[in-house]
Order: sequence, then C-alpha cells, then structure tokens
Amino acid sequence: LNRRLAGFGTTIFAEMSALATATGSVNLGQGFPDTDGPEEVREAAVRALRDGRGNQYPPGPGVPELRTAIAEHQRRRYALGYDPDTEVLVTAGATEAIAAALLALVEPGDEVIALEPYYDSYAACIAMAGGTRVPVTLRPSDGRFRLDLDELRAAVTDRTRLLLLNTPHNPTGTVLTREELSAVAALAVERDLLVITDEVYEHLVFEGEHLPLAGFPGMRERTVTVSSAGKTFSFTGWKVGWVTSSPDLVNAVRTAKQFLTYVSSGPFQYAVAAALRLPDEYFTGFTADLRAKRDLLASGLAEAGFEVFRPAGTYFVTTDIRPLGATDGVAFCRELPARCGVVAIPNEVFYDAKEAGTSFVRFAFCKRTEVLHDAISRLKRLR
Ligand code: PMP
Ligand code: GLN
Repeated sequence: LNRRLAGFGTTIFAEMSALATATGSVNLGQGFPDTDGPEEVREAAVRALRDGRGNQYPPGPGVPELRTAIAEHQRRRYALGYDPDTEVLVTAGATEAIAAALLALVEPGDEVIALEPYYDSYAACIAMAGGTRVPVTLRPSDGRFRLDLDELRAAVTDRTRLLLLNTPHNPTGTVLTREELSAVAALAVERDLLVITDEVYEHLVFEGEHLPLAGFPGMRERTVTVSSAGKTFSFTGWKVGWVTSSPDLVNAVRTAKQFLTYVSSGPFQYAVAAALRLPDEYFTGFTADLRAKRDLLASGLAEAGFEVFRPAGTYFVTTDIRPLGATDGVAFCRELPARCGVVAIPNEVFYDAKEAGTSFVRFAFCKRTEVLHDAISRLKRLR
C-alpha cells in the first residue's frame, strides 16, 4: 500500500457489518435500508434489462433519459436549471462522484476543508488526490452539532482550493440552515473557493428543509453538487449517483470519471430516471415514514440511557455514551454485540481530532419498525 493510502485499512462499515453477521446481532451500523424501494422502480429495471436497454456500455455522461430526469428534478424541487447535455453527469454512486471531483479539481498540496466528523471516503479520496485535509469540527450545543462559522473562516488559507460540504450531514444528522449556508457561500465567493457539496440525504429531512448550496448567490458556477439514488429510493446496491454543475466543472469531473469506471449500472439508470419522476406523494411519504422511525429510535435510545442528538435529517442518530458510564466509543461498539446483540458505529473513526469524537456512537434507523423495537429492547439491557 502506498503512502497516500497507508492507514486507511478496511472501512468501518465493512468491519461492523461483518461483526453483525458473525454475532447474529441487529445491525444498526452501516446505513442501508432493510426493505427495497418502490415496486414500480424495480419493474422499470426489469423492463430495461429485458428490453436490452443499458445491457451494453451506456454513454459516458449517462443515458440521456436519466440526465433529463436529474435536470427536471433539480428544477422541480429547487428551481435550479441545468442543461442535461452539458451540466449533468451520471456516476457510480455518490462515492465515485466525490472521488472523481476531488481527483479532477485538487492539485497535490492543495488544502481541502471538510466538516468533521466526515464520511469516511472523503479522507481517503483527498489523500488519493494528493490534497491535505483540513477538518473543521462540528460541535454539539443545545442538542445539535453546529458549524462554527468563525472556525470555518479561520481554516481558509492561501493554499485552500476547495470546501467539501455535506448536508444533511452523516453521521451527526445536522441539516445546515439558510444562515449557515449563506455564510459558507459568502466565504467561498470571497476567497474564490470551489465547493463539492454532498447532498445524498436531500430527501431525508425531518425538520426544516434541505437547501442546495448551488442555489445561493455566486455559487452555481463554483459548486459541484453530488447526489445519488441510493438513499432517496432505497436502492443502495444499484450505485447510481450524479453530479450537477457548470459545463467546465462537469467536464473536469467527467475527465477523471472516464478512467475510473468509465460507465456503470446501465439498466438501473433507466429505472432511476423513472424513480426521479415519481409523484410528490412518494417523496413526502418516504420522509414521513423515516421521520417516524427517527422518533422511535431516538426515544428508545434515550430510554436506554444514551444522550441523544435528535437528527434533523439522514438515516442516523448520534448519541453520547457517557450517561451509561462509558467513554470510549470504539471499545463500546466492539463490546456491544456480546453485551446486548446490537451493532453500531463509533463516530471517532470520522474524526482527525479523535478526542472530539471519542464518546459518540451512531445508530441507523432505516430499518423495519419491528427491527427497531427489537434493537431498543436489547439496548435497554445495558442499564
Ligand atoms: N456520502 C455520504 C454522506 C454517505 O452517507 C454515503 C453513503 N452511504 C455516500 C456519500 C455514498 O453514496 P453512494 O452509495 O451513492 O455511493
Ligand atoms: N453511507 C453508509 C453509512 O454511512 C455506508 C456506505 C458504505 O458502506 N460505504 O453507513
């Protein structure tokens, strides 16, 4: 393993899902739903396979039908106009979009600011691009993990090239507010920064609303917006993601993407085009269902003795384990299967400043209600 990747080892998600299988535990670790997305979307995938659409290499930028559906979604949902031919790129999940954008835009030695705790692929991809990661830590106050705008401002130097943002935020569940995003946008304009914004949880917002950063003044031309079908439609295995941005930035990302996967997920691209055109009721029903699950798990965890940071969005509840008499989240998560048959994720692995995240543990609620009830009754044995 080269020096850029030294220390990255196996992702925490693979490690913890393997532990759940080996111990027969309820897996509230890795964020994936335990029921599949809409039947009609699955049918659209079957039809595409059967009719021979996408069974050979699809076009490099993605099938036109999907690029058009992505542009329509951005317009319908956010009143943001993108040209499907020059301003939309289909990728192998958001993961490839983030990797390709970093590889395309970062010069070796450039500083990349990322909110900490960060989704684990960010650190590895910044390293692969030869960049230097500069974390800005979200800290809890009044029950919410907050972005300190002064800290963000202070993190920008003459070497800063890019800001890597994520809202709704994994693992904290924070949804950045209009005021926070305005300040981020003003800073990006003032210091002439590019921004990659990871918005894969855009439809999983339970309080307030998701605001795309690209909609703020001066941002459309400097923002690479990343999203994916995995969370919104409960098909995390299909790996259909996308980028919307200016023609120049999309071109740059496409240049890197060509030599990573080239293309992917042919038939599923057609199915996701159908999914993006589902009526508004699908999206509101999906959010309402997850909101109820958020409420169930958040109150269950509180009853089990955790301090709970009630998330405004995403699949995840972050907790503090100190009220249970524990301090080390990594040790706690390793012991949890034996103690009560539940798997969770220690947030510490998403921090550079480990001490800021040691006592936080993340639980996923994108699971069937009976599974959540089972997990809660197991967790109550910890008391
Ligand atoms: N970004 C964040 C914040 C995520 O939580 C995930 C998810 N699993 C991804 C990106 C990757 O998305 P995809 O599965 O579409 O590659
Ligand atoms: N995004 C998911 C999570 O945070 C996991 C995705 C993965 O395993 N790479 O749990």
